[in-house]
Amino acid sequence: ERKPVVVGYDGSENARKAVLWASRYAAVAHLPLMVVHAWIWPYFTQNLGPVAGIKDSGLRREAQRVVTEGRDLAVRSEPDLPVHQRLVIGFPSKTLTEFSREASLLVIGTRGLGGFAGLLIGSVSFHLAASADCPVMVVR
Ligand code: ATP
Ligand code: MG
Ligand code: MG
Repeated sequence: ERKPVVVGYDGSENARKAVLWASRYAAVAHLPLMVVHAWIWPYFTQNLGPVAGIKDSGLRREAQRVVTEGRDLAVRSEPDLPVHQRLVIGFPSKTLTEFSREASLLVIGTRGLGGFAGLLIGSVSFHLAASADCPVMVVR
């Protein structure tokens, strides 16, 4: 079964490296690539009731821009590679764990956008290295 290589992209420099690594690997392995961006919009964790009205806000457009940027990086580096993109509303670790059930390989960066400068590995990478359902490549 040709399960895709899945890469998590959050717009950070490390995630960019992860996309480039994942693209090369997928091309060599003749597997499709899936670029995933998990988006927690600021209202998601609050009790604000119905959120349908803000679905098409600038925040969603920004999240869409991030995942498209990740896809474009892959397409430019490996023009013949089949590349898919998914924008998912949810927490990054949970979202990528779900994708890992149907992946040949999960590729992530050591760090992302957030976190404390002194840490060597982010919480998403740390969690996924321990609990993903497929092999994990942490790119630095
Ligand atoms: P923390 O989030 O713990 O404060 P951090 O942002 O530096 O620290 P992580 O979030 O663990 O580090 O990021 C590591 C990698 O996980 C990223 O390079 C990226 O591959 C993936 N990742 C992180 N956040 C997301 C996201 N929202 N969507 C998709 N992939 C993500
Ligand atoms: Mg992060
Ligand atoms: Mg985080």
